[in-house]
Amino acid sequence: MKIFCVGRNYADHAKELGNAVPEEPVIFMKPKTALLQANSPFYYPEFTNELHYEAEIVLRIAKNGRYIHPDQAEKYFDAFTIGIDFTARDIQAELKKKGLPWEKAKAWDNSAIVGKWVPLTPENRKTPITFSLQKNRETVQNGSSEQMIFSFNTLVAHISQYFSLNIGDLIYTGTPAGVGECVTNDLLEGFYEKEKMFSLEIK
Ligand code: ZN
Repeated sequence: MKIFCVGRNYADHAKELGNAVPEEPVIFMKPKTALLQANSPFYYPEFTNELHYEAEIVLRIAKNGRYIHPDQAEKYFDAFTIGIDFTARDIQAELKKKGLPWEKAKAWDNSAIVGKWVPLTPENRKTPITFSLQKNRETVQNGSSEQMIFSFNTLVAHISQYFSLNIGDLIYTGTPAGVGECVTNDLLEGFYEKEKMFSLEIK
């Protein structure tokens, strides 16, 4: 199982971190050990002093493929959820400054959170997915798949030019503006429309 993540897929988020809007998708990966298992506690990692949440729509791959055409891409994912791509922002800033890879900032154990899965149907595929993140019961991020620079189909097609996609792989499709710090005892809750998809306490 592989976890793909998309960087800078919302113009307002690229801007808040001082990054240019990309001309093609920015892709990075997390290993499967990054996925927090259901009902496991999340502990604040000791190597960072600036843990950031990034709420994102996560797609689940349902069919193996390579070199997928954008027109066919829809067939390759069958469910979505809201998740968090946790980031050690202080470490990422250091690595970015030196032009080094991001893994220590992004791919560590339990850095990938998923909520409950929502099956995609012909009906709900037609409507944009709106989502939000609350920190301690206050909304800190709001997003919609409509605001994405690269659509689900474009991302699936693009990723598959470089990597085989396999059943069970996940794609974190990028975060909207409003990323920020969280600390021990914070409560993070992700919503798809009004429905709560996950609730996570930082221990
Ligand atoms: Zn992200």
